[in-house]
Amino acid sequence: MTTTQDDRGELDRAAHAAARHRELFGTEPEGFFAAPGRANLIGEHTDYNDGFVMPLALPHITTITASRRADRLLRVHSRDVPGPTVELSLDGLTPGTVKGWAGYPAGVAWVLLGAGHRLGGADLYVESDVPTGAGLSSSAALEVVTALALSELNGLGLTPEELARHSQRAENDFVGMPCGILDQMASACCAAGHVLYLDTRDLSSRQVPFDMAAEGLRLLVMDTQVKHAHADGAYGQRRAECEAGAVALGVPALRDVAYPDLDAALARLDATGLDNGVIRRRVRHVVTEDRRVERVIELLEAGRPREIGPVLTEGHASLRDDFAVSCPELDLVVAASTEAGALGARMTGGGFGGSAIVLVEADATAAIGEAVTAAFDAAGHRRPRIFEALPSAGARRGALP
Ligand code: ADP
Ligand code: MG
Repeated sequence: MTTTQDDRGELDRAAHAAARHRELFGTEPEGFFAAPGRANLIGEHTDYNDGFVMPLALPHITTITASRRADRLLRVHSRDVPGPTVELSLDGLTPGTVKGWAGYPAGVAWVLLGAGHRLGGADLYVESDVPTGAGLSSSAALEVVTALALSELNGLGLTPEELARHSQRAENDFVGMPCGILDQMASACCAAGHVLYLDTRDLSSRQVPFDMAAEGLRLLVMDTQVKHAHADGAYGQRRAECEAGAVALGVPALRDVAYPDLDAALARLDATGLDNGVIRRRVRHVVTEDRRVERVIELLEAGRPREIGPVLTEGHASLRDDFAVSCPELDLVVAASTEAGALGARMTGGGFGGSAIVLVEADATAAIGEAVTAAFDAAGHRRPRIFEALPSAGARRGALP
C-alpha cells in the first residue's frame, strides 16, 4: 500500500518545523499546532442543506509553527508551495486581494478581526502531508490550524466549533468558495477512533466509536489524483439547485423534507412544471443521503459495521446518477473494488475527481488494492494512491521540543 503520509512522529515534525521557522523568520516559534484532513464516511453534499454528515479525521495533518510579532504584519510561508514568504498587513486585508494559497490564512485573520478579536502580527510556517485537491480537505486543515494558532497566540480561547465556523467563513467570504461546514467541523472536532455524527443545522454532534481494525475491517482511501475542470463552479451550481428545490417545496432547507414524505415532495415538484427533472434528482439525492446517514449510524451503533457497505455503495450511485458529481475514475474505483469483493465504496468529498473510500475485510486489503490498480491500468488512468483511513484526532496544540 502506498501512502504519502509523513511517518515521522509529531515531535520530530515539530522539531524540523521549528528549525525552518528559525531560518525563515529569525525567531523562536512559540507554539506548534496541527489540524487534520478528513474523509467523509457518509453524508455528501448535505452540509449546505442543513443535513447530516459523518466524517472522520485522517492521520494526515497540516502543521503550523507560530510566533508573535511586535508589528501588524502577518507573514506566512508554506513548505508545500514554491515561492517566497507572503507578507500582508493585518489592517489591509480585503477579500479578493490575496491570490493563491495565502488567501486561506489571510482569510482566517480577516474573519477573526471582523468578529472583533484583537490580533497582533504573526509569523506562521506551514507544512502538510494532507494531499491537496484530493477531496480530503487540505484547505480546511489549513484554515483550522491557522485559526487555532491565531487563537492561541492572541489568547482568544476559541472552541473547536468556533474555529470551524470562522474557518468556513474565511473560505466562503475571503477565498470565495461557497462550501458548507463539513470539512472545517471535521478538522476541528473529530476524535481518534471515532466518526463524528454531526447535524449541520445546529452543529449538535456525537462521537461514534469506529474501530474498524477491531472488527477485522479496513477503510481505505483511494485518491484518483484527478481534478476535473469547473469543479468549483459546479459546486456552486449544485448549491443553487438545492436552494431552488427548497424554495419550490416551501421548506427552509432540503433537510426539512422527511424521508417518508419524499415521494409526495417529488410529486409536488413535478406539479410545479418548473423543473426539467434536474432539481427533482438533486432533491432526491439530498433526502435519501440524509436517510443513509441515519442508517449508517443505526448499523454502527448496533455493532453491525459490515452492513454499512451497501449503504455506502448506494450513496455513490446517488451522487453519480442524481447529483451528477462523480467522474469516470471515481466510478471505476467503486466498480472495481466492489467487483473484487469490497463491502462497499463511494466517492468522498465534493467530487469531480479526488478520492473514494472503500470498506474491505482486513485480509482482502491487498487483493482489492491490486484489482483497482489493474482496472486503472487497463483503462489507461494514472494509478490511484491508496492508504488506510485510521480515524485520528482533530485540531490540537502539539509539543515543541
Ligand atoms: P482540498 O481541500 O480538497 O484539498 P481545495 O481546492 O479546497 O482542495 O484546497 C486546496 C488548496 O488549499 C491548495 O490549492 C492551496 O491553495 C491550499 N493549501 C492546502 N494545503 C496547503 C499547504 N500545505 N500549503 C499551502 N497551501 C495549501
Ligand atoms: Mg477544500
